[in-house]
Amino acid sequence: MDTPTTADIVIIGGGVMGASAAYHLAQRGVKNILLLEKEEFFGTGATGRCAGGVRYQFSTEINVRLSLESLPMIERFRDEIGQDVSYHPCGYLLVATNEKDAAVFKHNVEMQNRLGVQTQLLSGDEVRKRLPMIRFYDAVAGTFHEKDGLGDPNSVVMGYVSAAQRMGVKAVNNAEVTGIRVSGGRVEGVETSRGVIQTRMVVNAAGPWAGQMGQMAGVHIPIVPLRRQMFTTNALKEIPGDFPFVIDFAQSLYFHRQGDGLLIGMSNQNEKPGFDQSVDEEFELVNLEAAVERLPLLERASRASHWAGLYEVTPDAHPIYGKTDVDGFLVCAGFSGHGFMHGPVSGKLMSELILDGRFSSVDVSLLDLARFEQGRLIKEYNVV
Ligand SMILES: Cc1cc2nc3c(=O)[nH]c(=O)nc-3n(C[C@H](O)[C@H](O)[C@H](O)COP(=O)(O)OP(=O)(O)OC[C@H]3O[C@@H](n4cnc5c(N)ncnc54)[C@H](O)[C@@H]3O)c2cc1C
Repeated sequence: MDTPTTADIVIIGGGVMGASAAYHLAQRGVKNILLLEKEEFFGTGATGRCAGGVRYQFSTEINVRLSLESLPMIERFRDEIGQDVSYHPCGYLLVATNEKDAAVFKHNVEMQNRLGVQTQLLSGDEVRKRLPMIRFYDAVAGTFHEKDGLGDPNSVVMGYVSAAQRMGVKAVNNAEVTGIRVSGGRVEGVETSRGVIQTRMVVNAAGPWAGQMGQMAGVHIPIVPLRRQMFTTNALKEIPGDFPFVIDFAQSLYFHRQGDGLLIGMSNQNEKPGFDQSVDEEFELVNLEAAVERLPLLERASRASHWAGLYEVTPDAHPIYGKTDVDGFLVCAGFSGHGFMHGPVSGKLMSELILDGRFSSVDVSLLDLARFEQGRLIKEYNVV
């Protein structure tokens, strides 16, 4: 496709945020939108490498409220956007193995229940009863919500991109943004590997690379790329069809069904920030050992695939929405490892901000960029 030389709105990044923003802006009637993606395919950044988990279980009200808007959009996706996204409500079962986490879980469940999310608090025995094949001898408590589950990230991205294109959005891949032109404190254009595009508005939806886009515009955006990795197994007949997304919280170790096998991941707490997306084989062994310790039947499993991707981490593990000091340079990024599920509502929120001047689906005004300088951080405990 020929790259246009002007656009009313340029969206940088063809992951779930950029795709959702493009769709929601076009749906509200904006005509001249350009979505730019540096890779050959849309959705091959964090979105395409993610675990596909969707959950209501968070420790802060704002994240629960984002889930309350976003997860029904994933449930309704096929009807509204015309693309099946394999939404599968298998439930998330978070397991606490120490009293400190158990106390936080209890507090979280109370807050979630108050907001209308019917998460159940389980005892250690109830966890063991639900997951007999996992050695949770040390479980102290658990939380389960049956409408948490899984969705297919690639289908969500492609559903939004295709629907946006049908409404006239120009979505261009192999188009890397190399500079952002700012004059007199406002955006004037975007430099790309395919030429210069004049525009007065840029949405930075570059995920783990959003900090780099900020630098190009002269804006400090505190988003750090942090490698996370996972692997899948071959078919395991012992794993029941209703196996939930299980999280051993203290170890950040998780399992969920993937096809007829399992997807297994664990966060390396010693990982240093960086853009390396190769699998750390040494850490994969650490992950495997921890997984076998919990689920001994894995000794008989073989690895089917493995990959790594980048979390896009902010200092308080919450996203950044909205304006910056440069007029016309907006941010929608920094979801800190749980953004796939909040992608649908986040694109809608950006369309509200741009067209109405305020967020209406969820009031995310507290998640502005200025909070870091002003010390208004909001800590999320349920980061995996
Ligand atoms: C291993 C792993 C597991 C995860 N598991 C989950 C999960 O279970 N549930 C969940 O909700 N979230 C999960 N996440 C987090 C989730 O993937 C992200 O929060 C979300 O996908 C971020 O979407 P995004 O659109 O902001 O970023 P991305 O999907 O990374 O999109 C940004 C895009 O910008 C493009 N780009 C970058 N620089 C440029 C440039 N200069 N010019 C043009 N384009 C550019 C990139 O190529 C990329 O495609 C996980 C992430 C990882 C890495």
